[in-house]
Amino acid sequence: MGLTIGVDVGGTKIASGVVDEEGRILESGVRHSPAGSPEKMALTIAEAVTDLAGRHEVEAVGIGAAGFIDETRSVVRFAPNLAWREEPLRKKVSELVDLPVVVENDANAMAWGEYRFGAGRGESHVVCVTVGTGIGGGIVLAGDLYRGRWGMGAELGHTQAVPGGRACGCGNQGCWEKYASGSALLVDAKENAQADPSSAVHLLELAGSVEGIKGEHVTEAARRGDAASLAAFASLAGWLGQGLADIAAILDPGCFILGGGVSGAADLFLDGVRDEFAARLTGRGHRPLAEIRVAELGPAAGVVGAADLARLR
Ligand SMILES: [Zn+2]
Repeated sequence: MGLTIGVDVGGTKIASGVVDEEGRILESGVRHSPAGSPEKMALTIAEAVTDLAGRHEVEAVGIGAAGFIDETRSVVRFAPNLAWREEPLRKKVSELVDLPVVVENDANAMAWGEYRFGAGRGESHVVCVTVGTGIGGGIVLAGDLYRGRWGMGAELGHTQAVPGGRACGCGNQGCWEKYASGSALLVDAKENAQADPSSAVHLLELAGSVEGIKGEHVTEAARRGDAASLAAFASLAGWLGQGLADIAAILDPGCFILGGGVSGAADLFLDGVRDEFAARLTGRGHRPLAEIRVAELGPAAGVVGAADLARLR
């Protein structure tokens, strides 16, 4: 026994899996995410769960959802990229699947997965920073997931890095994720290529035009030594290192874990993040340096973490 189901709900897909007590995925599935319809979303999640529960004896379900989840782990108050507004997701899904359900923020679920079974194993104070389209955060303090008073904690991407800076989807300006995410990498690379095309020969060759530049082009061009792309990665590293130093000033974790899609290109920026972190950390020289590691579980971290949090509910 001891099997639970984890579901990771994003804007484009719903990943699900049966997970055992050791964090191993016994069977997994992927469905298209009906992001525009809360009703279809609950039904699709329930279908994914019912399908897996038909072949495995499971005791609970954990849903990691890309949104602001209330402190009772039941209601999605708001999801910037999905249609949920005050959505009673726990109630809807548990009625459809007849199993106990908990709802977690997706970045919290990922952080928990990495803390328990991935790059954070053996640590007690872990901050997970998910670097993708935006920046997600998850905080484990003294072995507990930190959710805040209202369940809204650890939204690290929306701390202000630049007063009056780039407009953010959250309604504020200059948020950290506008400078230190995959989207920011793309914006910077395009700006660099526009300003000096001669520095972006590889990038423009791969993309065809400035408008055609995509994230994978920036990564590939950087590996070929493209100056504009390397500069974009250097900027990303600088903003990430500065942000981690700020977080360390507040939380003093033993370990940071960088996850999300951009962490797949960590060889292009991890050293830069570590250097900037060490150069910006308050009290540097008189305190241990937190380790900065790359996530180990990949896209499965959300499913594994959500499933484990359901077991511990
Ligand atoms: Zn923001």
